Amino acid sequence: MGHVCPDHYCPECEEEVVNEPPTDDLTPYAAHGLTAPTWAHLDGTPLCPVVGPNSYQPAQPKRRRRRR
Ligand SMILES: [Zn+2]
Repeated sequence: MGHVCPDHYCPECEEEVVNEPPTDDLTPYAAHGLTAPTWAHLDGTPLCPVVGPNSYQPAQPKRRRRRR
């Protein structure tokens, strides 16, 4: 299990994320012209796909806003 980043979350499903590449991910990112993600859900899957400039790609995590 990687390092959980409570300040970040998947913008699609709002799950917490870890700052390490997915371990349960067979997508050939290079073949799609994408860079491999560096974030994963807690279960090792890549973040939920979103529409990117070329195709679907894993979402980038969002940083939680801190309430003041
Ligand atoms: Zn997600």
